[in-house]
Amino acid sequence: MEAVENSISILIIEDNPGDQVLLEAHLENTSLIISGITMASTLAEGIMHLQQKSFSLIFLDFFLPDSSGLDAYLKLVKVSPAIPVIILSGLSDTALALKAISLGAQDFILKGEYDVQSLQKSVWYSIERKKNIELLKENNERYDIISKATNDIIWDWNLDTNKVKWIGQGLKNYLPVNTDITNIPDKFWTRALHPDERKNIVRSLHDTIEKGENSWECDYRFLKNDSSYAHINSRGYIIKNEANKAVRMIGSIQDITERKKAELETEQARIEAEEARKTQEQFLANMSHEIRTPMNGVIGMTQLLSATNLNEDQKEFVENIQQSTGNLMAIINDILDLTKIVAGKITLVQKDYLFADLITNCIKMNQYRADEKGILLHCTIDENIPPVLSGDPYRLNQILLNLVSNAIKFTHKGEVNVIINLQEQSDESVALEFIVSDTGIGIAADKIDSIFERFMQVSGDSTRKYGGTGLGLTITKQLIQLLGGSITVRSHQHEGSTFSFYLTLLKGKQQSGDNPARGETSEPNLRNALAGIHILLVEDNLVNQKVAVKLLESQGATVEVANHGKEAIELLKDIRADIILMDIQMPEMDGYEATKIIRYQMPEEVSKLPIIAMTASALISDQKKCLFAGMNDYIAKPYQAIDLYKKILQQLTPSCCIL
Ligand code: ADP
Repeated sequence: MEAVENSISILIIEDNPGDQVLLEAHLENTSLIISGITMASTLAEGIMHLQQKSFSLIFLDFFLPDSSGLDAYLKLVKVSPAIPVIILSGLSDTALALKAISLGAQDFILKGEYDVQSLQKSVWYSIERKKNIELLKENNERYDIISKATNDIIWDWNLDTNKVKWIGQGLKNYLPVNTDITNIPDKFWTRALHPDERKNIVRSLHDTIEKGENSWECDYRFLKNDSSYAHINSRGYIIKNEANKAVRMIGSIQDITERKKAELETEQARIEAEEARKTQEQFLANMSHEIRTPMNGVIGMTQLLSATNLNEDQKEFVENIQQSTGNLMAIINDILDLTKIVAGKITLVQKDYLFADLITNCIKMNQYRADEKGILLHCTIDENIPPVLSGDPYRLNQILLNLVSNAIKFTHKGEVNVIINLQEQSDESVALEFIVSDTGIGIAADKIDSIFERFMQVSGDSTRKYGGTGLGLTITKQLIQLLGGSITVRSHQHEGSTFSFYLTLLKGKQQSGDNPARGETSEPNLRNALAGIHILLVEDNLVNQKVAVKLLESQGATVEVANHGKEAIELLKDIRADIILMDIQMPEMDGYEATKIIRYQMPEEVSKLPIIAMTASALISDQKKCLFAGMNDYIAKPYQAIDLYKKILQQLTPSCCIL
């Protein structure tokens, strides 16, 4: 097998029978494994054999009856370019034979001058050399095809001679037209580098070599022949000699202008989106501030009004105002919530809470509306659910409230059912299924997929008929996802809808007693909760001043008012205060600045006073800013009186939990 694979078949094109016999006899005496020798007396005959059979080697006489000299050789290689040829030459034809070698023949032997040894050597070298040449040709062709296909440029840099060889179709984009690519000037690469980057790139290349690394990669700008710069990626592989010295570097140049352009566009789009998001957040903060400041006045004044002696009609009017302000605040909070969720700014609370209490409170809050509409509102809680769960009770409450209030809103007769099933439990957690179903108007099949989208309402007149903004379900879905769950809906028009969501909730650490947070805080009946407390109120809005003063005085506090930070600083030099309530945005001097002066420039008894920010911004970032500025706590406007009292008392008697 080995012998057959390595055996050679030879074609001898020679018209002289004596030379034929001699050559054949010598060949047979070599140690070459010859599978066959074919004789041809003319070039035509030789070519005919070549077309019928494959050969490893050809001996070609230069003087044949039908062709001679180089002409014979050239005709032959046209037919079989890949087969090595040894010229059989006479002494007088050596110059011609040498010419044939320069044209691709492998060797020549002088008739009558060769022996077995020299013949064997010539045959062997000719076959091997031709094999290598063919391999090289194939590799070069492959390079050529690769470079055509990728448009990449290959460079081969001899570090000893500092010469660079360049290959590749892409070169034509960087060199002047008609440049001979086999003769590219030495400084081509350095010159084409962008002047702003040249020094750094050359340095990085040399550093890489000096550090003994194996490869180098760099993105840079490279001058094209149309005077524009291409963005390119260049990589080089460093070849070292036995002494571990870098001697050669081979690499590629790839045009990445389009990719870079796309990257820049994406980056630009990202920056613009980020800016838009910031503008949106800023707009929201402003809008929230602008709305909350007067709303604080409206809500506070209404609260004060409701505590006065009113006749039945007046009571009803006040209740209507309170309901409308409640709705308005819900919308503002919805928009704010959604923006916070989208911006990833919602922070979840982690605390233990009584699960069943949370659910029943949510049901209770909706009961009166169900009663009003004559709808039955049922709730079933799987009794195997542990009493205390841990997580964010406020967000769970918000989710349930949204779904239950929607169910009541869109149901005119029948019932709304809330069912909570325990699906699975482990030592740490429970997997729960929450179902809120109703017998209401239902949702049309073609609308059901989009009801979780922002501002989506099934019917155009929904806001007028039912109220709402079309944000509730978007927020609900996002919150459920934030808690790691999912929500689905099934519905038939005129029959009703069933919303189901699934959450895995952690079990509380203590499963009995000990004061876990309840779903609802009942408001105690307060009397003189702030008696004897001196409060400095720093607030520029007159209505809000009046609201706060009335609310605080109604609980027995003594209140001094400053219209802005500067006035507060002056007042603090003369009056006694136990606590400061500080608005943030004010003319002359804002709340941050005033706090800084109080903390760092006033006598100790003043600098240590507790300061509660009263901010109309509901953004967490702004609230954090208050704490960072040195304030002790903050309360967002519009606030409930009870919350304000709580915060004041917490500051003055930190261990106090009377409220
Ligand atoms: P909205 O503030 O309008 O209630 P939601 O995002 O909560 O906004 O709901 C979006 C829309 O989905 C509603 O306007 C209504 O068309 C539909 N929808 C939500 N819940 C129900 C339900 N229980 N029954 C029928 N339609 C519903």
